[in-house]
Amino acid sequence: MNPLLRFLNPQLDRLPVYQPGRPIEEIARLYGLAPTAIVKLASNENPLGPSPRALEALRAAVESVHLYPDGHAFALRQRLAAKLGVSTEHIVLGNGSNEVLELVGHAWLRPGVDVVVSRYCFAVYPLVTQLFGARLITVPDRNHAHDLPAMRAALTPQTRVVFIANPNNPTGTCATPDELRQFVAGVPPDVLIVLDEAYIEYLDQPADFLPEIRSGRPNLLLVRTFSKIYGLAGLRIGYGIGHPDLVAALEKVREPFNVNRAAQAAALAALDDEAHVERTRALNRAGLRQLAEGCTALGLDYVPSAANFLLVRVGDAQAVFENMLRQGVIVRPMGAYELPEWIRISVGRPEENDRCLRALAQALNR
Ligand SMILES: *Cc1c(COP(=O)(O)O)cnc(C)c1O
Repeated sequence: MNPLLRFLNPQLDRLPVYQPGRPIEEIARLYGLAPTAIVKLASNENPLGPSPRALEALRAAVESVHLYPDGHAFALRQRLAAKLGVSTEHIVLGNGSNEVLELVGHAWLRPGVDVVVSRYCFAVYPLVTQLFGARLITVPDRNHAHDLPAMRAALTPQTRVVFIANPNNPTGTCATPDELRQFVAGVPPDVLIVLDEAYIEYLDQPADFLPEIRSGRPNLLLVRTFSKIYGLAGLRIGYGIGHPDLVAALEKVREPFNVNRAAQAAALAALDDEAHVERTRALNRAGLRQLAEGCTALGLDYVPSAANFLLVRVGDAQAVFENMLRQGVIVRPMGAYELPEWIRISVGRPEENDRCLRALAQALNR
């Protein structure tokens, strides 16, 4: 045995490795399929791709990749601040919003600290908690959704962070603005509420917590991403919005050039293309309906979704997933989320959704 493994950070011993959606290239290689024949509906990506404006900015940025990026992402933070009605001191950028979640871990989590999450929460929250040796308190769900009063009741004197995704991944469930506001108001100021809004742009009437940020709430961090509706998942860029004190703490643990030059340029341009966002929202609305109706026709239960994916009960999810893979359709089996009977299907273009439903029907012998 490698002697160095005896000296590994003990938190790493039982730390699972995050299981991403299977990449198109890998499935093409394994099953002898053409990459263009494969439909990937596994990672909640934008089926329309990025905004053409973002692509144009990206091409231009490529010429300057010999230069370090602006470590403070001045232009992008200014643009975001203006759009959101906050100051640049309220905004911290991450290499994906995933990195913002990890910065929270660096800043507040260690052994002796508690973290509160819901059952069926986003997989990164338990991973970050465990990585920093904090204790995870998992609150039972209510019909797959977060039970916010129970989460409030589960806070301990040692609790420093509560993670909530709204809409939630992988369930697609969404709290009402009133429920959420009541929860936020009831959490003591020495507990950080991380409100993960990765899918907020898909909502028609989202709960707006920017007024809380503007009025100086000290313990709320909104986390958003360019990976989902903006279609820039491959560039890795997301951000947090919170009190300047929180942002200053996160800035201390952020590496100097965490967000690359290409990502900054593309994100800046993507923010200007509201039409692309609106097109995506409309496509998603129709696609969710198509998938839901298809599942109903197959006699399958699903969890009504506010996001860009659908959680569907199929029986042996791992077997159904593998069967669909052989047909060139990649979805996500949810065994790692304690949902071994469920798959998560990301909304695609109409023809992709149709192929997915047909592959699902075939996998189930229907
Ligand atoms: C996809 C997702 C993220 C975003 O990840 P990035 O690191 O920004 O690509 C964050 N939170 C939730 C709940 C997600 O589903």
